[in-house]
Amino acid sequence: MMRTEAVSARLGQVRFVDLRLSKLGEGPVSVRALDAEGSPVDFSVGLTEVWGAKGWRPLFACPVCQGAAWVLLVGKLVVACRRCRPRLTTHQAEKNTAEWVRERALVDQLVRQTDRKGVLPNQQRAIAKEIRRRGISRAAGVLDLAARAVRLADALQEDDHAST
Ligand SMILES: [Zn+2]
Repeated sequence: MMRTEAVSARLGQVRFVDLRLSKLGEGPVSVRALDAEGSPVDFSVGLTEVWGAKGWRPLFACPVCQGAAWVLLVGKLVVACRRCRPRLTTHQAEKNTAEWVRERALVDQLVRQTDRKGVLPNQQRAIAKEIRRRGISRAAGVLDLAARAVRLADALQEDDHAST
C-alpha cells in the first residue's frame, strides 16, 4: 500500500492549498480525502506546474484530463477537476436519491402494466396507492422542514426585538 502523504478533511473535495505537502517530489502524491458522504477515499494524483505571480507553482494534475487544478472533486469512483466533473445541482442530486429512484420505478411499473392486457386492476391500484403514499410522505417531510424553518425565523425575530 502506498504511504498517505496528504489528508484532506473537506467533504467531497481536496484543495491543493490545504494539503501542506512537506516536499514536492516528481511523482504522484497519495491522498486520503473524504467523499460527499464523509467516507474516506484514497487515491494518488500527479502534480503539474502553472506559471503564476510568484513564478512556477505546483498544482494537481487532474487524473482525468491531466489539466492543472486547484480543486479536485472526490467521488467514490472518480476523482477529477470541476471541468471533468461538473457538480450536480441540488435538484439533480435530489432526483437521484433512493426514494426518487424507487418512485420512478413504481411509475414505470404502473405504465407498463397499463399497456399490458389481462392485468388485474387490483395490482395497478396497489401500485398507484403506493406511489401516492410515498408522495404524501415526502411532501409531509418537506412541510415539516418548512415549519421548523419558520419557527426558527420567528424565534430569531423575537430575539431581535428583545435586544433593541
Ligand atoms: Zn479534469
